[in-house]
Amino acid sequence: MIKPKITEIQAKSVFTKSGLPGSDWVINPYNGCLFGCMYCYAAQIARWKHPDEQWGSYLDVKVNAPQVLKQELSKLSRKLKTKNFGSVFFSSVTDPYVGLEAKYKLTRKCLQVLADFGYEGSVSVQTKSPLITQDIDILKKLKNVTVGFTVTTLDDKVSRFLEVMAPRVSQRIEALNQLHQAGIATYAFVGPLLPHFMNNPQTINKLLDKLQMVGVKEVWFEHINLSSKIKARLFEYLQKEAPHLINDFEKADTQEYRDKLDSIIYKAMKGRGLKMGLGKVIYHHSLSKKARKR
Ligand code: SF4
Repeated sequence: MIKPKITEIQAKSVFTKSGLPGSDWVINPYNGCLFGCMYCYAAQIARWKHPDEQWGSYLDVKVNAPQVLKQELSKLSRKLKTKNFGSVFFSSVTDPYVGLEAKYKLTRKCLQVLADFGYEGSVSVQTKSPLITQDIDILKKLKNVTVGFTVTTLDDKVSRFLEVMAPRVSQRIEALNQLHQAGIATYAFVGPLLPHFMNNPQTINKLLDKLQMVGVKEVWFEHINLSSKIKARLFEYLQKEAPHLINDFEKADTQEYRDKLDSIIYKAMKGRGLKMGLGKVIYHHSLSKKARKR
């Protein structure tokens, strides 16, 4: 494994307008992500300073992010208050709890800045890392916060295979439970819906059962995005590590497949009392600078 390249940088802005569905602002305390998921769309769009480096091998740390956020909120204060603040999402091109958050605590400090400012809009933090449970004290200070975990499978072997350096899914489930017990509203992001692994009623029902057991009240679903750049990186990996899966992944890139999966999901969700994010299964078919990582 390549030693990650960590660079401390000074950010000019961290409170940026979002083009993502369901959020008005995004905060990225880091650029790059050491979790290195094989399906990551940010792998293509968040690398303007690292065109030749392997995704998962670098992280830019915006060491002044909390101070910049404080200044930006102060400048925007009147506008935010007249527009009911708007919803904030952590993060669109990184995981806000990548391992080095334990050292830098930038996400924690940004959350503290929002709490001190009296931010009244919704704040949504999405991660794959149980490290977020260390910030339950700060999360509780926010007026309207939800924490989401990406859960693409219940099988640790599958999560290790495709979300190569991210914490195992069993740890995420435990963290969801812990947050729920602490009174924090939680959601799960089931995206991408993994071809071969997450495409039949039994697996999807089992996943929903588990999520409900740990107190999740809202679930987002997203079809896999197999646009050319994501596909090139993912398929190169599959070719090397599991060529027998390529056919199933190829087959998932059709409207027919998506329609069938949609109906399995709607049926599985029925009668559970779970809210579905955006009320539909999301599908981003092309790369966009504004597209959501999730
Ligand atoms: S999908 Fe999220 S956690 Fe995975 S590499 Fe991309 S930004 Fe990081």
